[in-house]
Amino acid sequence: ATPTALMVGTGRGAQLGILIKGPQVLESTRQVDTVVLDKTGTVTTGQMRLVDVVAAAGSEAEEVLRLAGALEDASEHPIAKAIAAGARERAGDLPAVESFTSSQGLGVSGVVGGHAVAAGRVAWMSEQWAQEIGDELSSVLDEAESAGRTAVAVGWDGHIRGIVVVADTVKPTSAQAVAELKSLGLRPVLLTGDNTRAARSIAGEVGIDEVIAEVMPEDKVRVVRELQESGRAVAMVGDGVNDAAALAQSDLGIAMGTGTDVAIEASDLTLVRGDLRAAVDAVRLSRATLSTIK
Ligand code: ADP
Ligand code: MG
Repeated sequence: ATPTALMVGTGRGAQLGILIKGPQVLESTRQVDTVVLDKTGTVTTGQMRLVDVVAAAGSEAEEVLRLAGALEDASEHPIAKAIAAGARERAGDLPAVESFTSSQGLGVSGVVGGHAVAAGRVAWMSEQWAQEIGDELSSVLDEAESAGRTAVAVGWDGHIRGIVVVADTVKPTSAQAVAELKSLGLRPVLLTGDNTRAARSIAGEVGIDEVIAEVMPEDKVRVVRELQESGRAVAMVGDGVNDAAALAQSDLGIAMGTGTDVAIEASDLTLVRGDLRAAVDAVRLSRATLSTIK
């Protein structure tokens, strides 16, 4: 492609709300055959809200929410923010946190009101405290995850005491974007640290068949590399700090303009409005730009 055509394409991109890091980026865009989509904040709004709190027998839902909320108040994770805000709304002032540890992609733990409290992935909680969650909580979990929601187990002093459910919302334009990516011959893949059932449910809502879930933050880059090793040319779309390495590894990194600076810096393209349909525009633009001058 001639430099002039690429520059024209880059300018056209800006009009479409696509910031292109350099003219050569349009060339890699055209080769892509697979689009890996981060779930939270990319396909969904990432604005989570608290939808349910269920206590195990012998515990109070309000206490579950207060202790979880206090602990999550110290975390920046969107799940944590939803739990802390919901707890404040329903239970008032939150108790002080005496110590705090965040385990990336798993959950949080610390001391609240003299109790050793933890909140996070159900499997992580079951493992560290060597106990099952019980039938009642188990059915709450099943129902929540089947509906595409994220269930967080909450416990203190060695026992799982309840489940807090948070819900995210699929962006209204995501399904259309996925359909158009497919019609351009691209294979969409949903990639997330969230549980498999919730991921499948969200994938179903937007029309994605291929789901890679329960991936630890540091493993997202490995997933991209493996797809590349299997011969695929990978575009990755993400917004989070935990997407940055994968965005840099991919053949074409696409950041949501609504996301973190780290993700934007690691990417070749930025979708200014955080609308996935702009990724489709980018592919069309690169094809048009490169075909006129071939
Ligand atoms: P994603 O890929 O969707 O951005 P993360 O890798 O950040 O997800 O987190 C994966 C999972 O770890 C979450 O779905 C949640 O179950 C659990 N988790 C992470 N952080 C927290 C937290 N602060 N509180 C409770 N659960 C958490
Ligand atoms: Mg994300």
